[in-house]
Amino acid sequence: MHTEPLRDPARERAQGDTRPGTEVPAPLLAPLLDPLLDHLPAGVVVHGSDGHVLSANRHALELLGRGTDEAVGLEATVPAWHFVRADGTPMPPHEFPANHVLRTGEPVRDLVVGLPAPVAGGVRWMLANAYPERHDGRLRAIVCFTECTALQSTRLALEQSEQRLALALRGSTDAPWDWDMVSGDTYYSPRWWELVGYAPGEQEANATTWIRMAHPDDQSRIAGFLAELLHSGREHFGIEFRLRHRAGHDVPVLARGYIVRDAEGRALRMSGTTGDLTERKHAERRIYELAYFDHLTGLPNRRFLTEELGKVLARAARSQQYGAVMFLDLDNFKLLNDTMGHDVGDMLLRQVAARLRAALRESDHLARLGGDEFVVVLENLGTSKDDAIGEAQLVSRRILDALGVPFDLVACECSTSPSIGTTLFDGDRTGIDTLLKQADLAMYRAKADGRNTMRFFDPGMQEAAARQAALDGQLRDGLARRQFVLHCQPQFAPDGRLAGAEALVRWQRDGDHMAAPVGAGEFIGQAEASGLIVPIGMQVLEESCGLLARWARDPRLAGLPLAVNVSVRQLRDPDFPDALAAMLAASGAPAGRLTLEITENVFAAKLPDLIPRMQRLNELGVQFALDDFGTGPSSLAYLQDFPFATLKIGRALVHAPYDDGAPAHGRHLVEAIVALARKLDLGIIAEDVEDEAQRSLLADCGCDVLQGYLLGRPVPAAEFERMYGAAGTA
Ligand code: C2E
Ligand code: MG
Ligand code: MG
Repeated sequence: MHTEPLRDPARERAQGDTRPGTEVPAPLLAPLLDPLLDHLPAGVVVHGSDGHVLSANRHALELLGRGTDEAVGLEATVPAWHFVRADGTPMPPHEFPANHVLRTGEPVRDLVVGLPAPVAGGVRWMLANAYPERHDGRLRAIVCFTECTALQSTRLALEQSEQRLALALRGSTDAPWDWDMVSGDTYYSPRWWELVGYAPGEQEANATTWIRMAHPDDQSRIAGFLAELLHSGREHFGIEFRLRHRAGHDVPVLARGYIVRDAEGRALRMSGTTGDLTERKHAERRIYELAYFDHLTGLPNRRFLTEELGKVLARAARSQQYGAVMFLDLDNFKLLNDTMGHDVGDMLLRQVAARLRAALRESDHLARLGGDEFVVVLENLGTSKDDAIGEAQLVSRRILDALGVPFDLVACECSTSPSIGTTLFDGDRTGIDTLLKQADLAMYRAKADGRNTMRFFDPGMQEAAARQAALDGQLRDGLARRQFVLHCQPQFAPDGRLAGAEALVRWQRDGDHMAAPVGAGEFIGQAEASGLIVPIGMQVLEESCGLLARWARDPRLAGLPLAVNVSVRQLRDPDFPDALAAMLAASGAPAGRLTLEITENVFAAKLPDLIPRMQRLNELGVQFALDDFGTGPSSLAYLQDFPFATLKIGRALVHAPYDDGAPAHGRHLVEAIVALARKLDLGIIAEDVEDEAQRSLLADCGCDVLQGYLLGRPVPAAEFERMYGAAGTA
């Protein structure tokens, strides 16, 4: 620390000081002022007209970090002084405050000057003021300066921090704002105004601007939030709302901020940013749609329906009103999809969805469960069950009518129809899954009852379904335990010669006790419905190939054809011909002895590749018979297209009414069919022959082969072999 008093170089020079100086300084100030100057918390330096330092007070020497010897006499322009400007760049000597005053005669006010510390690094900042002063006609410069290092560092830090903030905000899309709650001043950034489509200044800005520019439906919520927030003592907050854009649309935003409070917790200032949530809301909406809506039709999906149905049931429980769940399935949709392609199928589903929506009231719920399944939920059908039934009937009538009009699908006009199952609910304990299951069961009944209709659920359906489910399990079990065995029914030529056999499957249900087997008629229907007919059919074919192979080695049975019934579902499998070919090869059965019987419903199924599939089997030697001809919706046209070898007529024609034993109408029909078969080069077999009158009539009419209880009942394959084979007669 310098403790010397303010020194007078002139006096010192007179006492032998030899340092250079062109000007002989006069006493600086009156002696009284000297101690005062020395204690002044500011540096004071007096420069002569040529720039030399004439004198400096103690504080000046201290601030400049020099002794008197080093300072006095120094020229202000010598490079010994290194000053920097406020921005840190070097200050050229002509800008030094003293030089500026001497050059211009003008004072310098509040100039920030930095003095780099020579060793320690860092800068000592000073605030300099300089004045010109005339003395003996000569100009002098008096420079006063005080240290402001702390202030300057704060300013620099603030500048940097502001710069950082500005950069960060430029990089973000958030819009800053600030509200001084004491003065009432507000600041809305340009980005904030951009959010609402205005330029800064276009709209009045005050503390309520952001609420005024919010969506009217959000304003009271925001005001409530603000009131609560200010009283809560919380410092951080965030609120979502919608701003109204100048163009008229809503901008979803999230305002987040910080509140400065005084010691009593009173809010003084609120500052924060408002972020645009538009994109996030879009993404959220998209995720929601993907999760809850069917992308094809835009309808709610199963998940949405299940959640919605929960609310509907709760409402029904409160209102004590009936409602209805309707399960809707398109008839023959699968066929259309398979034959016309999925694009056409999709188009149909979209149009169906649109028509359903149009046929329903705004308050009715409609969902697509997947595939061609739709669900309609009706609410508030009244407190009387009969009224509710009537209402549901009306709605289903509207749906049937709406879907009854043909659909226009690019290349074609197509018709479809729905089968609808309906169940009522009244808010009792019946759960969602149960209701959907009930409606589904009723829908199956509608299908079974001829489709294009609606059926109400009744508890009997549930019992039937339970029975069917149990039967399915048993069928599966039977399959695994190979309980399906073959019986054979003989077929004869009119002269009584054995002409062939039909393999009929039997279910040997209780293997251990060898209980009487049941006829195929009792379980084939259920196996068809559940699809189990496919594996059962494969076992039947395997057994049949085994039989044929064995018969081939028996001189009496070697030439005997065997007819095996196959289901349309088996033929649906494109691999069926190959699988059968492999079976024939593995067993060594003569393919030429195998006939496959298929029923007329094969035509209704309209399988796309059925004919080539049949032809492929024909090539192996396998033949086809059309079973139960004349009982289904057959069209004679099909007979020409399909490669059948035989027509089989049964009960409907064989048991046709007779007049006094004299064949009339029935006989003519049989004769006509035989003639037709001859024309088409088809063989003809009559089955279900139960009495002599039928037998002789059918023989007279020209039937090639006869089959029936009169001539021989189905018997286990082994018994058949004993009865008709070589071993049996030996
Ligand atoms: P279907 O092919 O028309 O078979 C003839 C049915 O009539 C057989 O009944 C047979 O036992 C019965 N039947 C034979 N003669 C007479 C008669 O004189 N009077 C009467 N009332 N009935 C007679 P089953 O075995 O119960 O078979 C019923 C139907 O089940 C068959 O009709 C056939 O469509 C189907 N089926 C039988 N076995 C199989 C099989 O292995 N696979 C497939 N997919 N269906 C089979
Ligand atoms: Mg048959
Ligand atoms: Mg038949």
